[in-house]
This record gives sequence, C-alpha cells and structure tokens, in this order.
Amino acid sequence: MPKNRKVNTLDSYATIRAVARTKPVPGSPPSAPAADEATPADAPPTDPQKTGARVARTTVPVKHHIECYECGYKFQVHGRATTTHCPKCRVLLDFKDHLIDSEWVETIKTAGTIRLTATGVLKSGDLIGAEVIIEGIIEGGRARALRTIELGAGAIFSEKAVSAPDLRIAPGAEFKFKQDTKYRNVEIFGTLHAKLESTGIITVRPGGLLSGEVQAQHLVVEDGGGLKAMLRIAPKLEAVPEGQETA
Ligand SMILES: [Zn+2]
Repeated sequence: MPKNRKVNTLDSYATIRAVARTKPVPGSPPSAPAADEATPADAPPTDPQKTGARVARTTVPVKHHIECYECGYKFQVHGRATTTHCPKCRVLLDFKDHLIDSEWVETIKTAGTIRLTATGVLKSGDLIGAEVIIEGIIEGGRARALRTIELGAGAIFSEKAVSAPDLRIAPGAEFKFKQDTKYRNVEIFGTLHAKLESTGIITVRPGGLLSGEVQAQHLVVEDGGGLKAMLRIAPKLEAVPEGQETA
C-alpha cells in the first residue's frame, strides 16, 4: 500500500466497493472473494457500470487495522470482507471475530478478535488473534494474541498457555501469577499479584490493584488505582559490552 495514502480519507472507490458488497446486483455472481481487498484504493475500479448506479445507498466502509499473523506486517483494509491477502507475504488472512462459548478443540487464526466467554472451554488447539479475550477455561491448547491478551474475571488458565506483547487484566479479575511475567504494556483494571517486568508502560486503572515485584520503564497509577509492590522504575539501561568501559 502506498505510504503517502491518507488514512482517514473515504474515497469514492472505497465507497463504491462497500456498496457493491452490501447490495449485490441481482443475477450477478456473488461478490468476489476478498482476495484483492488490500488493493490500493487509487487503483481503477474494475467494473464501474455494475456498481455506479448504487452509489446513493452508500454505507461507510469498515476500516480494519490488520497485523499479519504469519509475518507481522501491518496494513489497513477497507470494506466488509473478512479475508485478505497479506501484501507482504501473500498469505490469505482471516480477520473475522470469533466467539467461543462452549467446548472448543480447534485452532483458530485470525487478525480479528477471539473471545473465549465464561462458558467457553478450550480443550485443544491454538487461539491466535490480534486481540484475545479469555473469560473461560483453557484446559488444553494455548492462546496467543498479536497485540493484547485480556484476562477476565473467571478465566482459568496456566500461565504458560497465554502469551501476547500486551496484557490487560479486566475489571473484577484477580490473578496471582507464580512465574516471572514479562510483557510490553500492562493495563490493570482488576487485581494482579506478580513478579512483573514491563518493557513498555504499566497502567493501573481506577479500581485496579498491582502487587508483588515490579520492574518497568514507565508506571502510571491513576487516581483510585492501588499499588503495593517492590518497585524498580527506570529508563532502559544501555548494556555496556565487557571490556569496553572507559579507563
Ligand atoms: Zn504476512
């Protein structure tokens, strides 16, 4: 996708595409698979005759921020499609949201959100999503978020079974982590006791409580948030290679 593209521009081509997808022309083949969704919006429309008459019924296209779960490339997709090809590694990406509210045994990979609800039980398989919300039970298998994993009240899991760059402890949730825990950003609405290292920012929201041992570069405790921990808050230290100290 061109780097200079304005992200907030709703251009006419995107509009036409959204309309075409919302209201398929009767008798025409079903909307093309979304394989070309990542096409730059300034590309010429492929079939203006077919869609031009329906511009009046415009719907605003949904904009998705996609992170490829295979190569990590970040890009945007407009429209209602739920799959696209990664512009970098060309893999076909699903970005549907998934809700699991009963026993589940399969792997899901999505650039959308996966929510394991309070009645959901993961028995086996990997749940891989941009955002993963765990409110149920992970008996087997694993949950991995590309951005944030949210652990909700009632979630039951082993610490090894969940991973993500960023961690969110939901309101009402109370967890005591036994293993050393390392995340980039940590946002705490509930209660977390841990030996926690953060390479980004830790934010304790109102009603949240963080206890244990905390090592971080940035710590924010909002009004109404609690902190009862041994702290080491410092900017990242540059490692000095051995033998290079100045005399
Ligand atoms: Zn990719």
